[in-house]
Amino acid sequence: MRFYSTKNKENTVDLKTAVLQSLPPDNGLYMPTSIPALDASFINDLSSKTFQEIAIEISKFYLSEDFDDATIDSLINSAIDFKAPVVSLSDQLQVLELWHGPSLAFKDFGARFMAAVMSKLAADYKKKLTILVATSGDTGGAVAAGFLGVDNVDVVILYPSGKVSPLQEKQLTTLGQNITALEIDGTFDDCQALVKKAFLDKEVNERYMLSSANSINITRLIPQSFYYFEAYKQLENKEEVVFCIPSGNFGNLTAGLLAKRMGLPVSKFIAATNANDVVPEYLENGKYNPRPSVPTISNAMDVGAPSNFRRMEDLYGQIWGDMKSDIVGYAYDDDVTRVAIKEIYDKFDYVMDPHGAVGYLAAKAYQADHPNSNVVILETAHPAKFLPVMEPILGEIYVPERLAELSDRKKVAESLDTDYDTFKAWLMS
Ligand SMILES: *Cc1c(COP(=O)(O)O)cnc(C)c1O
Repeated sequence: MRFYSTKNKENTVDLKTAVLQSLPPDNGLYMPTSIPALDASFINDLSSKTFQEIAIEISKFYLSEDFDDATIDSLINSAIDFKAPVVSLSDQLQVLELWHGPSLAFKDFGARFMAAVMSKLAADYKKKLTILVATSGDTGGAVAAGFLGVDNVDVVILYPSGKVSPLQEKQLTTLGQNITALEIDGTFDDCQALVKKAFLDKEVNERYMLSSANSINITRLIPQSFYYFEAYKQLENKEEVVFCIPSGNFGNLTAGLLAKRMGLPVSKFIAATNANDVVPEYLENGKYNPRPSVPTISNAMDVGAPSNFRRMEDLYGQIWGDMKSDIVGYAYDDDVTRVAIKEIYDKFDYVMDPHGAVGYLAAKAYQADHPNSNVVILETAHPAKFLPVMEPILGEIYVPERLAELSDRKKVAESLDTDYDTFKAWLMS
C-alpha cells in the first residue's frame, strides 16, 4: 500500500516512509491510496472470526507489500492482545468498552499497533530506532505501554515536571526496560521544543534513527477501524446501527469512516464533543472555525483544532453535504455531563467515564429523533482514570488492579532543564 498526502495526492510514499515520517513534508496528512473493499461475505461471516482474525484480514490490505503473512499474524497477535467487548445498557443502547488495554484507554490500540509495525520495520536498520515523545499526559502513557519490551526500539519520553497528574506520571516513569522518562523543568511546550530541535540536529540524526509517536501517524489510525467490525459482530440487532464517538482530535471517528468505506453497514456516526465543538458547529453550518481549546472534565477531548479534520474532509472530497449525511454532531458542557454520569449509574447501574458520558448525551438526543436506531457508544477510557471527576458524583468507584498498583511503584526519571545542549549531551551519552 502506498500513502498520499492530503495536500497533494500525487505525492505518494511507501509504508516505511509514512510511518517513520508521521507527517508529510508538505504538512498534509498521510492517507492510504486505496481503502480496502471487503466483500459482503466478510461482513456476513464476522461472527465466525475472532477479533484478531478480523484485524489480521484488514491489516493485510495495508501491510502485505512490506510483511509476509506470518509476520502480520504475529504482529497483530502481540499488539491486539486484549478484548473490545460490547456491553448492553438497554435493547437499543450499547457500550463498546475500549479500555481493556494496558493504559486503560482506547489509545492502546493505536500505540501498540504502531509499536509493532515500527519494531518490524526497524529490524533492518543499521541504527537503533529511537522514538522521542513530548507528552502533556495521556498519550505518553499509551505510547510507553505500547512500546514496552518491543524489540529494536528505544523510547524517550519528555514530560513537564509537576504538570501531569500523579497517576499519569507513574504510567510514564515506572516501566523501565526500553522506556526512559525525562522530567523537564518547564512546560509541555518546552518539551515539544526540545524534541523538535533534536529532529533537526544533524549529529543526533547521524547517531540515531529518530521517529515520533505522534497521534496523526497513519499506523495509529488503521487499528482503530478493527473494533468497529468487532463491535458490529457482537450486536444482536444489526438494523440501523449507529456509532457514537466521544471526540477530540477525531482519529477515532475517522477510523469509523474508514470501516464504513470498507463495507461495514453503518447507518450514521455521531460526533460527540464537550464545549470544544468545532466539528459539530461545522456539521451544522458548513463553517470550519478552529480556535484555542477550553478546559473541561473530559480533558482528552479538549482540542480546538482537531488534527484529523483534514482527513475527514478528504474522505468526502471537501463536500460538506456528503459529510453531513454520514455524521451528526452534538456538544455538551460539563454540568450536563456530570448529571449524565449520575443518570447512567442510576438507570443502568453502569459507571461511565466523563468522555463516554458526553457520548451518552449525544446518543440520547439522536435517539429522540431516530427511535429505531441501535446506538453503540464508544467508551474511550476506564472511569478510574478520572477519580477527581467521578468520586464527587458517585462516591468511591472501583479501581482496577493495574491502575491501583501503580501508586506503589517507584518513579524513575532523569531531571533536566530546558536547555537544548544539556538534552543533546544526555542523548549522545
Ligand atoms: C484521546 C481520547 C479521546 C479523543 O479521541 P480522538 O480520536 O482524538 O477524537 C476521547 N476519549 C479519551 C479517553 C481519549 O483518551
